[in-house]
Amino acid sequence: MKEKIQEVIDDKYLDLCLDGLLAQEAYEIRIKHDFNTACWCFRDEKHIIFIGDNILDNCKKISDEESKEYIASYLYHEVAHSVHTQRELESINLALSSNKIPFSLFNLAEDARIESLMRIDSSREFKWAKYEELLEAINPVEKLFLIIQNDGDSTFLKETSIDKKVIEYYESFCKADNSMHIVEILINWMKEFKDTDDELNNLQNKLSSSDQEQEINALEDLKYSLLLANNEELFQEMTKGSLVVNSNANEEDISSCKAELNTVSLEENSNARVALDKVATWDSQLAKELAELFSKTFMIKKGYVKTKKSSKRINAKAFRQGAYTDKYFKRKETKSQVKKRVAIILDCSGSMYSQMKEMRVVIGVFNELSKNGIIEGTVTLSGVQDSTAIHETFRFPIEDEVIGTFHGKYGAEGIESAMKENINLLVESDYIFVLTDGDIWDAPIDKEFYHNKGLYTIGIYIGNPDKCNLNKWFDKGVSVQNTQNCVDELVSIIGEDHV
Ligand SMILES: [Zn+2]
Repeated sequence: MKEKIQEVIDDKYLDLCLDGLLAQEAYEIRIKHDFNTACWCFRDEKHIIFIGDNILDNCKKISDEESKEYIASYLYHEVAHSVHTQRELESINLALSSNKIPFSLFNLAEDARIESLMRIDSSREFKWAKYEELLEAINPVEKLFLIIQNDGDSTFLKETSIDKKVIEYYESFCKADNSMHIVEILINWMKEFKDTDDELNNLQNKLSSSDQEQEINALEDLKYSLLLANNEELFQEMTKGSLVVNSNANEEDISSCKAELNTVSLEENSNARVALDKVATWDSQLAKELAELFSKTFMIKKGYVKTKKSSKRINAKAFRQGAYTDKYFKRKETKSQVKKRVAIILDCSGSMYSQMKEMRVVIGVFNELSKNGIIEGTVTLSGVQDSTAIHETFRFPIEDEVIGTFHGKYGAEGIESAMKENINLLVESDYIFVLTDGDIWDAPIDKEFYHNKGLYTIGIYIGNPDKCNLNKWFDKGVSVQNTQNCVDELVSIIGEDHV
């Protein structure tokens, strides 16, 4: 049983990670012996999730494959709490008590909200109704519970006035901005449905099938979050009998696994591996901040509507099976956006070694812009190895760790060859950026060839501007001292075109 849960956690934790569905902080996932549900708490700056090894007691007899999905639903549920539920639950608890709202009602409504958000983010349903015995829903609390079990589908309800009200409440929970907002909505619920306390007790009794002393049920996972955050004794007792299956200690596994994402370079625009297996650290946070700055300036000029979601979601499974093509991205695009296409050529010659840290940030900025739906495009790594010009192309957005595999280590630049070999990408781009130190020793850039195709190149160099004359090689040169200045320049170049 433990092995099965562990296998599911290993597999799904990685999916959650690759799909960008985890919170920023570290996670520690534990299997708790003799425990029949799952819960989450935030302590010592990390998210701790306990998954009970008895959770399969809560479902019907289901196949092996189904039971894995059922276990995964618990993990997705608790991860959704970690991302969306207010970490400090004490003030929620106080607000609930002062309004005489039962904590378990809050738990139910908050579950509705966080599961709805997770369904949107992951495109995955929880399917509780498929795996669990269903109760007959007679009163409002049970009806709400059943809608949640049905992933928000309320078509099983008749159209009585109470049914309609419960559905309305359910929808308002899903639309609530945060956990405290749920409390406000529940004040009305309590006025509307006077028997809520009894109904909750009743439901708890129905759900608690066994006589286990410490049994908690689906209505109480947040009660545990509240207790575990403050009650040292309970926390010790929970951690004592549990096995850590995923924690910071595993970050290395994750990063090595993510590094395999290098294989997602575009086959038709690559002739070799140019990125390395080694994942270097770089300042992805700075890239996020600079991208934010860029978006603001750019969107004000252009009147873009920023979408929250990435335009392409990565299909982690397809990735791990070594897939290359675009069909493995689930496209989500809004029509109102006309995205600018960017083609970046990254000089991976040895002289770029010391600049690569900054260049990763510049690429990270473009990567963030593509995640935010502002641009789309590619980055092509170029180099020369054993007298052969090599290039490898990635399509944005890419994982941050993949950017960490871009290094300066080759004997020469191979820029001209990388550009000619990828002329199809350049032709469909609005901007061509070449990230280089201008220390170009091999084939010169054939400007005329590109001009005849209507293509103009912008060279980008970060370092001492006096040391580098990019205009010699490119139509425009951006020689700046740091990444911040680089972004300012890019805003002015791209912005100028669009005012
Ligand atoms: Zn919950």
